[in-house]
Amino acid sequence: MQTRHETEVVVIGGGVVGCSIAFWLAKRGKDVILVDMNAPGTGTSVACSGLIGGTFKFPNFYMELSIRSAYMYPKMVEELGEEIGLRQDRGFLSLCLTEETYKEYSSLREEHLKSPVYRGRMMAPREVWEIQPGVSREIVGAHYNPDDGDCEVLRLMYVLIRACQRVGVRMLRDAAVTGFALGGDNRVEGVVINHDYLIRAPNAVNAAGVWATEVAKMVGVTIDLYPDRGQLLITEPAPMICPTPMNSLKQVRTGHFHIGTVHELVGFDVSVTPTASARMTKNAIKSVPIIADLAVIRQFSGLRGMTRDGIPCLGAVSRVPGYYIAAGHSGITLAPVHGKVISDLIVDGRTDLPIDEYDPLRFERKNGSQS
Ligand SMILES: Cc1cc2nc3c(=O)[nH]c(=O)nc-3n(C[C@H](O)[C@H](O)[C@H](O)COP(=O)(O)OP(=O)(O)OC[C@H]3O[C@@H](n4cnc5c(N)ncnc54)[C@H](O)[C@@H]3O)c2cc1C
Repeated sequence: MQTRHETEVVVIGGGVVGCSIAFWLAKRGKDVILVDMNAPGTGTSVACSGLIGGTFKFPNFYMELSIRSAYMYPKMVEELGEEIGLRQDRGFLSLCLTEETYKEYSSLREEHLKSPVYRGRMMAPREVWEIQPGVSREIVGAHYNPDDGDCEVLRLMYVLIRACQRVGVRMLRDAAVTGFALGGDNRVEGVVINHDYLIRAPNAVNAAGVWATEVAKMVGVTIDLYPDRGQLLITEPAPMICPTPMNSLKQVRTGHFHIGTVHELVGFDVSVTPTASARMTKNAIKSVPIIADLAVIRQFSGLRGMTRDGIPCLGAVSRVPGYYIAAGHSGITLAPVHGKVISDLIVDGRTDLPIDEYDPLRFERKNGSQS
């Protein structure tokens, strides 16, 4: 097969995860080619809520890694050189509309309290209304986490792509990875594009989002990522009455409400449905009544890449030297961590972040098989 390019690292996938990894690798002196089967910035990363944080992410080590990543955002934004609508000064509310939800969040909080990192607390309604005037007078309370926040995902992607280009990452669009060239010891020697040509490289990073399972299969590795469709609505703008991001609902600085979300197991189908729209609107109105008066101007969907154990895949694949995986849910939150860990592993051969639990081969060990 014809070799068309040579490089030190091929990053597969131009979402928030792949772009963050490519950016940090290039910043640290690596020659990088990023390939995307469509165009960078067209996957799940532009079809999501953009919340950044660790609230109710279990086990606690996952919450801790998420918060650590959230803390890395300001530095990353500085390096990227353009703002991304980062809001980390207001915290994050998870509203309780019923006593049951209040009890549930209180007991999740108890579990989080076992970690020294966690600073969340329960809030009484009056305190919630003070920081979030648009919220319903019917709420029972809320969980508040001062360490969580959000960003504008379209800006984040656009800024990341530009920053990658600035630090010399070569980006190839319409370049689907269809196979790998492996050496005798199973070591990565190159990446096959569109069944047509080879990019010769000793390192490949699978950052293909929900499609990472397929890209892992190409080197005989089974990871347990499956698609979980979410849908989102955007309303017409309103005066700012909810400046604090909330779970499944936020008002962005232009005044539009972003309303989420659902979890649907429908394979790779990215249709939007009136049923989901009705359900999401009804829930949003219960939290913020003014939404009943606002027209919905956009509905779209995205595919989460979920794992059965709920935590992402992150690290080197030991039995395929030169092959790395960074994929799974909460990629917006974890983009800085993904970027640091994979660039550490490729540049230094090790990382000081605790990633053992995220080993991509854990699914095979659990199943007692290799495929
Ligand atoms: C409704 C919804 C709400 C969400 N809310 C949040 C949130 O608030 N906070 C949060 O942290 N996360 C959230 N997420 C999850 C988050 O959006 C994802 O975890 C993140 O965007 C994944 O980024 P990624 O770069 O891994 O994948 P993507 O952005 O999907 O990028 C993967 C890229 O890989 C490319 N690709 C795939 N296969 C190949 C191949 N064979 N060859 C070449 N290229 C390939 C694709 O074209 C795509 O561009 C949400 C998701 C959804 C659906």
